[in-house]
Amino acid sequence: MKKHNYSAGPCILPQEVFDKSAQAILNFNDSGLSLLEISHRSKDFVAVMDEARSLALELLGLEGKGYQALFLSGGASLEFLMVPYNLMKENGKAAYLDTGTWASGAIKEAKLFGETVVVASSKEQNYNHIPKGYTVPTDADYFHCTSNNTIFGTQMKDFPSLEMPIVCDMSSDIFSRVIDFSKFDIIYAGAQKNMGPAGTTLVVIKEEILGKTARVIPSMLDYAKHIKAESMYNTPPVFPVYASLLTLQWLKNLGGIAAIEKINNAKAALIYAEIDRNPLFKGASAIEDRSIMNATFLLNDEAHAATFDALWKAAGISGLPGHRSVGGYRASMYNALPLESVQVLVDIMKELESKV
Ligand SMILES: *Cc1c(COP(=O)(O)O)cnc(C)c1O
Repeated sequence: MKKHNYSAGPCILPQEVFDKSAQAILNFNDSGLSLLEISHRSKDFVAVMDEARSLALELLGLEGKGYQALFLSGGASLEFLMVPYNLMKENGKAAYLDTGTWASGAIKEAKLFGETVVVASSKEQNYNHIPKGYTVPTDADYFHCTSNNTIFGTQMKDFPSLEMPIVCDMSSDIFSRVIDFSKFDIIYAGAQKNMGPAGTTLVVIKEEILGKTARVIPSMLDYAKHIKAESMYNTPPVFPVYASLLTLQWLKNLGGIAAIEKINNAKAALIYAEIDRNPLFKGASAIEDRSIMNATFLLNDEAHAATFDALWKAAGISGLPGHRSVGGYRASMYNALPLESVQVLVDIMKELESKV
């Protein structure tokens, strides 16, 4: 039986992505060859990379606006250091908003390169909200933020307007909601939260911000080199890129980000309404900052945990336990999770209420 998959990442993907990518492993484009055994320089794979890059920009509304899309490897975590490598000037300064584990991971890497100013942090409150009302030093080389905090279940609803380049880690909410993406100069996202399998990272870069530092950048870490090589500087992660392309095509056929945002909002409204209504549960993050992707919640009385866990497991739900730093539960509702799966969870929460 197919599960209701709430995994935080790697996570659920559309069924047609699984079917089509499985087929491509057996016989790619009716070529008599597997996707996994052909050259990445072959006409068929170059077409995959080209379409994935242009479709990513198209869905984000960034086509023809000076942006380039890359599919790199090394995960979002490698971008934590590629960003300062490519943007921080010698004796320069970077500004970071600390909203969670991933943001602080990015800060740690930036510190290796130069002065790193944390403009605000919600760490003292275990990252249960997004800090607001901070000021960003005007002489920073860039500002870095994390749009969605996968572990804590908070999400930035507004982004500052700044003169300097804005860099955003959108790993866990890219392609999930309508944003003016042209506000950002670099957007990066590990594929495995909303786009594809683990193994590739989408990096969208406004080309004009590159080349402003005197730093010598190793080739594999140099965005300009990857752009020049059309995301084929070395052998790209062919299977994750192909599966990501299939997900992007699925999203386009559905009506793009605006269409999926409506469904995502409906899913989030359903679960949060139950968390707020049901006397057995409470939300784990500030209401105004609640994530539409990852809903974190707790039982008011841990004594009900065994009963609740048995109920949701029996209903075919998988991946619900919260991250160890928050505890409780986390319902990750990425693009491919259907509304029906959220209804199943809500029904189980109601069932628990009637049982205890
Ligand atoms: C998962 C995640 C990461 C880390 O991604 P990797 O691809 O494992 O390096 C970084 N940032 C955010 C917001 C994430 O959710």
